[in-house]
Amino acid sequence: MPSLAGTTFLIDPPTVCAVTVFVALIGGLLLILAWMQNRSEPALALWGLGYLLGSLGVVLMALGGPASPGWLICIGNALICSSYGTMWAGARSFEGRRIRIALVAAGAAVWILAWQFSGFSQSVRLHVVLLSGICAVYVLLGAREVWDGRDPDLISRWPTLAVVLIHAGFLLARIPYAASLPLTPIVIEAHRTAVVILAFEALFAAFSLAFLRVSMAKERAELQQRKAASTDALTGIANRRSFFDVGAPMLERAIADRRPAALLLFDLDRFKEVNDTNGHEAGDDVLIRFSRQLASRMRPGDVCARIGGEEFACLLVDTTMSAALQVAERIRNRFAATVFAGLTTSTTVSVGIAMAGESGRTLSALLGRADRALYRAKAEGRNRVAPEPLVLVEKNGGEATRLPALEGRTAAFAAPLAG
Ligand code: GH3
Ligand code: MG
Ligand code: MG
Repeated sequence: MPSLAGTTFLIDPPTVCAVTVFVALIGGLLLILAWMQNRSEPALALWGLGYLLGSLGVVLMALGGPASPGWLICIGNALICSSYGTMWAGARSFEGRRIRIALVAAGAAVWILAWQFSGFSQSVRLHVVLLSGICAVYVLLGAREVWDGRDPDLISRWPTLAVVLIHAGFLLARIPYAASLPLTPIVIEAHRTAVVILAFEALFAAFSLAFLRVSMAKERAELQQRKAASTDALTGIANRRSFFDVGAPMLERAIADRRPAALLLFDLDRFKEVNDTNGHEAGDDVLIRFSRQLASRMRPGDVCARIGGEEFACLLVDTTMSAALQVAERIRNRFAATVFAGLTTSTTVSVGIAMAGESGRTLSALLGRADRALYRAKAEGRNRVAPEPLVLVEKNGGEATRLPALEGRTAAFAAPLAG
């Protein structure tokens, strides 16, 4: 026993147990409070309920001494089983998965069933083995939910997984330990250290998991807010703000590395007419379909966004003018061939393309150049792709000579200028 300045400190298992119950109670109430503040996350309520069921179960078990009725022990343990089942349900709900009520209740049902056999109900050792086994199964199922989480960006997932796995390890370790000992109150006294370690671990898990679950929900809400701020509400693709946030550093890197980058600016043709003759909702459908077609054509590193009402932009790195022309042509063609049920007007798109170079070092400058090319596509009759006026670079004795911009060059002459 630890001693300091003649004072002997006694770590009393029932006291640690009482502290754990208290922590679980507070943790449960905190989780329920967090759910009341964020009703869109029902997992918080399930976790809170799990904590409350667990603390009630431990209280009932603590009340169930040799002189008290056996059902107190039975119900107390069944409540602990349902507490772990509810925690697992919370983990599934957090990941947007279906909750299987029968499986959530299965642990408590197995416990109550086992209690019907006197060989089981009389053996404290078997109680510990079965309870630890049931709880460990739920904890491991919960760990799998955390591992397979739908948000790869959720950082608090990893410490949660670590604590959950440590807790599962302790629960599993209790099985061979309890099975090897004829547990009676006297023997528990002789194994005070082990009991205290287990009780402290339960305290640690209850405390840290309550905290981690609240932070997971908070982090998820923040991620969703950040995503909403960078996503266009109608089409679900990136918005103008996100285009600049992601595209600007991407363009900077491409220019620094002397890699070609193309900016494609799309503007649907006579879209006002589409709205005027078919209604705003039909116009919305056209925008959604176009953005899907656009997204399906892009490579993982490309950035595409709806930057205005019926204007879309894509920044393609490592793309030459001829490759950009091909991509734009394919998108234009596919959109022109798309049949919209009930639409009386034609739907086409014009595209302006600009290549990153000295006069387009920033994304807004590049966008301005693509806009001028787009203007030309519109002026030349719409439903077409127009590359920006080209700047031809000629090597002259190793010296790069820039010629004045030439209107009307074909893509084969495109030469992205090194930044
Ligand atoms: P142009 O070929 O010259 O581009 O002609 P336009 O009619 O497409 O161009 P204009 O800029 O005159 O019209 C754009 C239209 O886009 C006007 C506006 O009603 C429509 N629009 C903008 N945002 C939305 C939206 O979210 N939904 C719908 N349905 N229409 C939108
Ligand atoms: Mg427009
Ligand atoms: Mg338009």
